Amino acid sequence: MKDLNILIVGAGVAGLTCAALLKQRGVIPLIVEKETEESFNTTGYMLGLLPLGGRVMNELSLESDYFEKSIEMKNYEIHKENGDLNKAYSLDFINVEYDSYRGIERKELINILVNKIGSKNIAYGSTVTKMKQNNNKVTVSFSNDTIQEFDMIIIADGIHSETRKLLWQPDEYSFYDTHWGGYVAWLENQQLNTYKEYWGASSFMGLYPVKDKVGVFVGGPNEIIKEQGIQKFIKDIKKDINPEHQLLRTALSKLASTENPYYWEFHDCKTNAWNKENVVLLGDSACGFLPTAGVGASMAMDSAAALVDELSRADKQHLSYALKLYVSRQRARVEEAQADSRKLGKLMFVKSKTISAVRDYAIRFYSLKQLVANISNVLEGHK
Ligand SMILES: Cc1cc2nc3c(=O)[nH]c(=O)nc-3n(C[C@H](O)[C@H](O)[C@H](O)COP(=O)(O)OP(=O)(O)OC[C@H]3O[C@@H](n4cnc5c(N)ncnc54)[C@H](O)[C@@H]3O)c2cc1C
Repeated sequence: MKDLNILIVGAGVAGLTCAALLKQRGVIPLIVEKETEESFNTTGYMLGLLPLGGRVMNELSLESDYFEKSIEMKNYEIHKENGDLNKAYSLDFINVEYDSYRGIERKELINILVNKIGSKNIAYGSTVTKMKQNNNKVTVSFSNDTIQEFDMIIIADGIHSETRKLLWQPDEYSFYDTHWGGYVAWLENQQLNTYKEYWGASSFMGLYPVKDKVGVFVGGPNEIIKEQGIQKFIKDIKKDINPEHQLLRTALSKLASTENPYYWEFHDCKTNAWNKENVVLLGDSACGFLPTAGVGASMAMDSAAALVDELSRADKQHLSYALKLYVSRQRARVEEAQADSRKLGKLMFVKSKTISAVRDYAIRFYSLKQLVANISNVLEGHK
């Protein structure tokens, strides 16, 4: 595979993981990233990385950088909207049976991967404007008006992929909208190794630790948050929180005082066909994730590893066969995990007080493996 001339579109989790794995096998791809070097990797949020992602860091011999910049997660707690604990799960079985389950800031993960690849291999402030396939080659036009020929293209420009639109018709992919969304802020100087979520009626809060700080998420139905504005939305939530839950109250105050926080709208997407001849979709552009199960980045890395593994046995004349094998090996795994993130979304994003009370009661009888049965299957290799 060493003589393959590969273009990767998008320097996100999927694209960079794939580039690092290719480099390890002697292939240096060109990566185009639409953000400039200055604006790249500036928006950040927290990632929980399951061993599905962490194991790829092992493959890249990046485990010491990864461990240094992240923390091991020990527990997952679901609370009621007044802050009281409803159900607690230990995550130790993941750490013991599979590998370390870790919290890391997305920015840190991206930095580790960029350092491995070398930023000179990334063309910042650049996108693809046209692609044409012909006889095992893809001719690509770039936003700077240059044209270049490649053996294959890996499209990894995220859930709202613009590059996908160049070859895929609108009826070949679809979006699933929860009509919920929310904001992220950071609480600095915190040592926590427990995910804490607060499932309310028309509100959802989460505390997601990474190294030395905690990512705070507050969300709700788009129409309510947009109509009320973040300040009033948080003020209303705070009224119902019992005074002893000080960390949650501090987290909410931090979010209320954050200037212009970015509003994440929660939808995902699914694409019917993951490849067209020598062009393949990777990560969220193939199958995007709601953040509810915290598994999108892990699956993007798992997919990058599967793709590079299949490519490692391919020659230039049979790349589309390698891509076919990759898709048949990976797609069901990814869609299985996506189904859990949708299921969790339905449990978390509830508007009615009555339904949320029933849910809060019922959740006490669920084990973690039951809550995320599909992801458990993926971890076990049953998919
Ligand atoms: C708030 C939030 C919390 C999340 N929490 C978790 C979690 O805890 N655990 C987890 O596993 N997952 C989580 N996810 C999901 C996870 O972030 C995604 O599944 C993952 O980042 C997908 O990787 P990707 O490389 O496909 O896309 P991205 O990481 O979105 O990267 C896409 C890259 O392509 C670039 N790009 C975009 N358009 C173009 C273009 N036209 N040309 C060139 N470049 C382009 C972008 O600038 C970006 O660099 C979360 C997501 C959100 C929004």
